[in-house]
Amino acid sequence: MSNKKYDLFVLGAGSGGVRAARMAASFGARVAVAEVRYLGGTCVNVGCVPKKLYVYASEFGHAFEDARGFGWNGTAFHFDWATLRDNKKREISRLNSVYQQLLSGVGADIIDGSARILDPNTVAVNGDTYRADKLLIATGGWPFVPQFPGSELAVTSNEIFDLETFPRRLVIVGGGYIATEFAGIFNGLGASVIQLYRGELFLRGFDLDIRRHAAREIAKSGVDLRFNSQVKSIERSGGGLRVNTADGVALEADAVLYATGRKPLLQGLGLENTSVRLKDSGEIVVDQEFRTDEPTICAVGDVTGGKELTPVALAEGMAFARRQFQPQPAAVEYEFIPSAVFCQPTIGTVGFTEEQARREFGEVQVYQSEFKPMKHTLSGRDERSFMKLIVDSASDRVVGVHMLGEDAAEIVQGISIALKAGATKATFDGTIGIHPTSAEEFVTMRTPRAD
Ligand code: NDP
Repeated sequence: MSNKKYDLFVLGAGSGGVRAARMAASFGARVAVAEVRYLGGTCVNVGCVPKKLYVYASEFGHAFEDARGFGWNGTAFHFDWATLRDNKKREISRLNSVYQQLLSGVGADIIDGSARILDPNTVAVNGDTYRADKLLIATGGWPFVPQFPGSELAVTSNEIFDLETFPRRLVIVGGGYIATEFAGIFNGLGASVIQLYRGELFLRGFDLDIRRHAAREIAKSGVDLRFNSQVKSIERSGGGLRVNTADGVALEADAVLYATGRKPLLQGLGLENTSVRLKDSGEIVVDQEFRTDEPTICAVGDVTGGKELTPVALAEGMAFARRQFQPQPAAVEYEFIPSAVFCQPTIGTVGFTEEQARREFGEVQVYQSEFKPMKHTLSGRDERSFMKLIVDSASDRVVGVHMLGEDAAEIVQGISIALKAGATKATFDGTIGIHPTSAEEFVTMRTPRAD
């Protein structure tokens, strides 16, 4: 039975929890972090980091083909899943140790185990109890799979990275970030991929033109995209699986990936022993300073809903620590948060979609450009890039930037700084481009689209 007393006890060592713990400890607070699974949370272990490594792996598939037009010839390369998977495991273990060192380096205690809140100042882990002035819930989210016959046969993003054997035939269900990214990954690695989405057009919430161009380019890259498709059941079939859709189609697969959203991970936390309130959708209700309805308990990151993105959780963790342990007024600015879908070609986006901008500002001007990237004039790859700028007519401010194409994430990250700084279309026009790049298109769009 431990009687240790802390200034801050963090539940969950993911992006938000670790950042908050490190910052608070560096401000002199006595901090403990409890984690039941892996240090670094979803992002490091089963999210952003391994995903990006697999995206890199998948890009070689196309790059070897592209190289022929530039004079490179040779015997075909062979992809070995076990090598990628095990190299990835090694890198993630290294990152787990880095996280451990980051926390112990600032004097935070790491407690392995599942934490349960007993009262607003007491947490139990593995039978020991710990007291703290403040508790921070940063337990993140967990993949959601709807219940239907055979749903237990599906895997999620938690398992897909570590499959024992490479799925030569993969069915992916969902039309959001995760489904679309994994469709690109496994397509690039050489699997035959079918992506099923229940609605008319996937990537709901993104700019409509981006969604349409993405559907066209992703289909050209080899993913079998099927919209208006609902899964009725999954059953075992021979050595694999059979996916039966509501409209009577049967699809044979080696694996079925469900990427149908995530839910906050709150089970067993003991919230019933507190006055922490939940939204109807299940996330924890917090105010601008991340305080729950229980005065000693705060929450950051995916567990509170909002934008489920690592950099947002990091910003929240940092703002929380500054506010509580400096104290400094520290608010997170949620406007113009850029994001990317690492599909192929990549989507990069910041600010308002055209539809949102019309609702928000009334009159807007839209500039757009579609072109064959220079590289593919020789590679022979049939891929086109698409870029779009949305300008508030009244103020001339650029309020939305969207891109589908190589390096879109890198390009839009840079442009998002301009948008946060309030750049106008005149600022974009007065900026000299870097030639020859795709990004220069954003500073050379002269004529608004005629609607
Ligand atoms: P999303 O919310 O992005 O997408 C969920 C998809 O599943 C939607 O297409 C949704 O359809 C569909 N869906 C939901 N319920 C069902 C159902 N019962 N049957 C069939 N389809 C269903 O979630 P993801 O799981 O892709 O990702 C979770 C979050 O993680 C993202 O929102 C994002 O914030 C974050 N993320 C960010 C990444 C990045 O920054 N690159 C990468 C990966 C994840 P509909 O649109 O019709 O509701």
